Amino acid sequence: MENTRKNNPVYSRISRVGIKYAKIANLHCFLFKKNGVPLLCAGPNWSFVIGLNLFFIIIGLLFIFIICPRVSQIDVIIGIIAFTLLVVSYTMTALSNPGICYNFSGDQDLGHHLSGERYCELCEVVKKSTTVHCDECGVCIEEYDHHCPWVSKCIGKNNKWFFYALLIGLLCVFVFIIATLSFKSRTSSKD
Ligand SMILES: [Zn+2]
Ligand SMILES: [Zn+2]
Repeated sequence: MENTRKNNPVYSRISRVGIKYAKIANLHCFLFKKNGVPLLCAGPNWSFVIGLNLFFIIIGLLFIFIICPRVSQIDVIIGIIAFTLLVVSYTMTALSNPGICYNFSGDQDLGHHLSGERYCELCEVVKKSTTVHCDECGVCIEEYDHHCPWVSKCIGKNNKWFFYALLIGLLCVFVFIIATLSFKSRTSSKD
């Protein structure tokens, strides 16, 4: 079994890079609990996530400081709330550990006792009915919902509420932009 662990691509990457940063399969992980479970991790396409977040911030600043003051003061406040919700929820969804399910301690030799679909040989864990091994992330995710390319990682047990907040944030920003632009075009056509 020790040989299997050494040949395991998920495990070998953990042991090579140390405790403060670890690449667990395709995920870049930071800040670890004492049991080795990462608190934060970025997906394989992390540069796209930074770029999209910067895009949200630039659009937000453009609206809050250039377009909204020409409409009304209350528009500025609503804009700050909507864009803050979007950027914070997007960052938290993209950075939090989605629920990586992996034998971090490495001391349970479960492979000898269990086989079939419920055991993942790469992650060396017994999968619950809601746990799915994601091919893009390369690890098992607890309470797997889907792999979201927009945040470059899975939506699972630990980041699903941030993801729901992100959907609400997107809706708020969309409604806010449409309302602001239509109000502005009506007031400027009166002038
Ligand atoms: Zn797995
Ligand atoms: Zn995934």
